[in-house]
Amino acid sequence: MIYSGRPKSCQEFTCAWLLGFGLSEYRPDNTGIVPDFQEIPGIGLVLYLWEAREGMMSSGFVKKQTGINLQAGKFVLHVPIQGNPRLYVPEGKNVADYRLVFGDVVDKEIQVVKFSKGRF
Ligand code: SF4
Repeated sequence: MIYSGRPKSCQEFTCAWLLGFGLSEYRPDNTGIVPDFQEIPGIGLVLYLWEAREGMMSSGFVKKQTGINLQAGKFVLHVPIQGNPRLYVPEGKNVADYRLVFGDVVDKEIQVVKFSKGRF
């Protein structure tokens, strides 16, 4: 897109915000988070939230988007700048081997967090 200072990686990438998922104020340079939906075999549609600015993974925006998507039965993967990705698993769902499923996409160990009511 369109705004100055966009990441170089976005020359060949279209994030979920640019595809129309999200309000105008959720533009990634405002939230510090790049959202992306990917269809993962064995899991279905997964919302990736890539941290683009340090510290933003704990923002209200991330909590809200994670909660909405978990409630809708979607998996949500947090990919922070530092540390390991976290896969949030919606209620009633499970996947046997997450490393196998995400191996090509995320090269760090994935921590798995099961749905718990009231967390988001
Ligand atoms: S994060 Fe999304 S909106 Fe921003 S430059 Fe990349 S593709 Fe465009």
